[in-house]
Order: sequence, then C-alpha cells, then structure tokens
Amino acid sequence: MLKSKSLNIVAIIAHPDDLTFFCAGTIAKWAEEGHNIYVVCCTSGNIGTVRTDLTKEQVAEMREKELRTANKILGVKESLMLGYPDGGFISGPELRKRLVYYVRKLKADRIVTFDPWATYEVHPDHLIVGRMASEAGAFAVFPLLYPEQIKEDIEPYACSEVWYMGLLGHLPNYFVDISSTLEKKINAILKFEASLTLIAQLFAPNIDLANVSPEDLKKLSKYANKLFRSMAAGIGQKVKLKAAEAFYVQKILPGHFDNFQEQMRAMLGNPPEPPKIC
Ligand SMILES: [Zn+2]
Repeated sequence: MLKSKSLNIVAIIAHPDDLTFFCAGTIAKWAEEGHNIYVVCCTSGNIGTVRTDLTKEQVAEMREKELRTANKILGVKESLMLGYPDGGFISGPELRKRLVYYVRKLKADRIVTFDPWATYEVHPDHLIVGRMASEAGAFAVFPLLYPEQIKEDIEPYACSEVWYMGLLGHLPNYFVDISSTLEKKINAILKFEASLTLIAQLFAPNIDLANVSPEDLKKLSKYANKLFRSMAAGIGQKVKLKAAEAFYVQKILPGHFDNFQEQMRAMLGNPPEPPKIC
C-alpha cells in the first residue's frame, strides 16, 4: 500500500553485492511501500573472488546472476549493469556522464550510494562511484550539461537527496527500521555465494577461502546469517529498534548539498540534530 508519493529511488553501486550487504532491508521496505527501485551496478565485479579456479568471465557471470536473484527478492524494478571492470579502472568524467543520463532517464528522486568521503575506504570503485553518483544527483538538473542527452523522453531532472549507506562515513542522521524486512535481507544476502567468501574472514577464519567446498558454503551461509542479524540488531540498538540500517542523508540543491544549517550548527559548536527514524 502506497503511503506517500511514489518515489523513483536509484541505488548506484560499484559491485553486485554492495547494496544487499549494506541496505537490503531498507530497499525491500521502500519497494513494499510502493516506491520504484532501480539498481545501477557500475562494475561487473569480475575480480570479486579469492578462489583460484575461476576466470574473470565466470566470476562476472556468477555475480550478475546473484545480483538479479537477490534484487528479485527485494522487489527491485530493474537492475542495470554498466559493465566496467572491477578494481579501479573507472574514468570519473565518463561515469559521471553516464550517471547523469540515468538520473534523468529514471527521474531519480533519491540516490543511494557509497559515501565517497568515508574514513578508511580503500576500494577505488566505491570511492569513484560514490563521488560520481553524488555529482550526477546534483548536476542532472542543468540543461547545458551534456545537452546531447536531452531528448523527448529525457529531460533535466532535480534529484532531491542522496542517501549514503554504511557506517564508515559521517555519523548517521537517518535510521530505517528493518524489523519487517530483515528476513528478506538475509534471504537476499545468502544468494551471494561468491561474495560471502570475500568477507568470510570476518566470521569463518578456519575455512580455506581459495577452495570452498559445498559443506563449507553451507557453514558460511549459517555464519553469515548470524553476522548480519547481529549487525542489524547492533545498529538498531542505538535507536531502540530491533533491527535497523543507518544512513547519512544529504538534501540536494542544484550543484550543491543543502547543508548550510548543519555547517553553521557545527561551526557554532552545537550538537547535530538527533537522527531521524523511519
Ligand atoms: Zn563493493
């Protein structure tokens, strides 16, 4: 049932598993509320394994399949693959142009992406994707930018906000209650078999990740299930929710973020506004 105006929400991510790990509960909740969810995945994720028996093509194929299966569970309307190679090969200006096109074409009201100013973010794809997605959100409104894109069905578009996912960046100013969609999140995460091995050192240090057997994979799924439940509970605890995901949200003005009040508050030594819960 649609509670408010239906929004076009575009998640712009670097690798097939990025969105699911960080904010699948929120995406599923927004889809249930009747918003249109699109995912633009910039790279094929083709080096995303520590296994030694796979080619880049095989990894890319596996990960795209996983993304599409997971996105189906979450209620994503359309998943678009831009096909850049994984691992730091994206040209910023080229990506910005392509993302401005998608902001215009999909009439993106809200962008979800990586915080490109996050502390200790080492992955070049996360940084460039977060930065160019933010710029695309702020600049798609200018008709003289990439005017060749403006055609009958594609017009300049004023995106309203960008939601940065993950906890490495700015302190969160939005918490989303995902108690009702946590099961969907866990189900979606467990579709990412190839990706689970990448983070398995967090929770399964004894498994040889270069040679994962089917039994190991079952164990990994079990451990991952536990890990992501406790992550959601840990984030929720901060705001007295059973399960939550956290975001840092910036409102957009043409070519800028609308953060003047926030900067003034910080400059005057006042504490930030308490986070919003939705
Ligand atoms: Zn990633």
